[in-house]
Amino acid sequence: MGQAIENKRRRCPGLEIPMQTGDGLLARTGSEALPLSSWRELCTTASRCGNELLEITSRGCVQIRGLREETWDRFTTKIRRCGFRSPLAPVLHQNLDLVALADPTSRCAEWLTRLTALLERVRAQRAFHPKFSLSVDVGVGPGFDLLPTDLRLRSMGTSEGRDLSWFELRSAGELAASARLGVVDLQELDDRLPAALLERAGFGPEARPSGTPAADPGSELPEAVRLGPIRFESPHLARALDGCGVGLAASPLHADTLLELLAAAARDGALLLKPYPKHTLWFFRQAATAAEPSGDAWANLLARAASLGLATTTDAPILRLSACVGAPHCASAEFDTQNLLAHLLCARQRAGSCDLPVHIAGCAKRCGRPQGTRVEITGTSAGCEIHLDGRSARRALSPAAVERELSELLDALDPEADAHA
Ligand code: SF4
Repeated sequence: MGQAIENKRRRCPGLEIPMQTGDGLLARTGSEALPLSSWRELCTTASRCGNELLEITSRGCVQIRGLREETWDRFTTKIRRCGFRSPLAPVLHQNLDLVALADPTSRCAEWLTRLTALLERVRAQRAFHPKFSLSVDVGVGPGFDLLPTDLRLRSMGTSEGRDLSWFELRSAGELAASARLGVVDLQELDDRLPAALLERAGFGPEARPSGTPAADPGSELPEAVRLGPIRFESPHLARALDGCGVGLAASPLHADTLLELLAAAARDGALLLKPYPKHTLWFFRQAATAAEPSGDAWANLLARAASLGLATTTDAPILRLSACVGAPHCASAEFDTQNLLAHLLCARQRAGSCDLPVHIAGCAKRCGRPQGTRVEITGTSAGCEIHLDGRSARRALSPAAVERELSELLDALDPEADAHA
């Protein structure tokens, strides 16, 4: 392994620079739409070379955990061959690739090629701010209107629908809160986008995107997420696409769980999988006929996701649970966070309620805590502490005791919970 290992969290890992974490090296890939076969290969390679855990991040990247120095080169070589690559920008949200994969001669494919080359050129000169995000939206797939990004390129509407002759460049925030900075076409992209990036992205690990608040999609869970079956039609698609979104906890996902979803989606005829922000996975297939209801296309995937406790609606309990990697993977962990997450998920499903967001951390470092978390369960050498709004509220030793203490605490809080829901 010839690359330096990055120890500082302020830098963005990728497939070139690994990050050292408590459970080994971490690799991060971008959020391209890729065939299911590529994702199967990612899962099996992650199991052989890492600790079998993957993450879909709040920004829609994929993280592979538990890699080792001796497996790093084998892992990255294999998954690059399947089409995975380092995140660009460092986070580029785009739905151009759905059309480009279906039709490599499309205008979308041309945009994607130009954009990718341009971002790689800029990135080779200067490191983007680690949290910077750019969205490029052509109106295919779930879209990014509700996602607060730092810079936004959006195809413009015409009387015939959104076309690709012109893109508007918009400032930070959700679409409704952003301001139009200008309009670009493909010819102007090479000049106008680097200038906008230089002005607004902020460069280097210490910089913030200039003049913009931190655009953190983790603070908007889960109202901005659309999940379940949706049909997408667009002038850029030869045929309509059926999509089905599945939501995950903000927590590592076992590679076998993803393999089970892939198998179910394949039985439904899925061709592509694309990770989207807010810990969601979107499967796509070509719609069989315009008359067929899109929901009928996803019977296997919906049933498998439900049996795994995953979300296909925005009120699913799992969307308000998060956990770090925990024991036995992380050397600092005081307990098995994934086991406790499974306990709490079952309890919430039994109770049929969604409650306050809960984050489970294996130690006081509290990795992966989403913004806005009010209830935290933190491992200590004397057992788990339950914190409410940063104050230590209760202590318990076993998962069953944590479940009981937490449920009593939340019951006592009920009117307050309603007020914050
Ligand atoms: S919070 Fe502690 S146990 Fe969890 S991943 Fe971070 S260092 Fe490991």
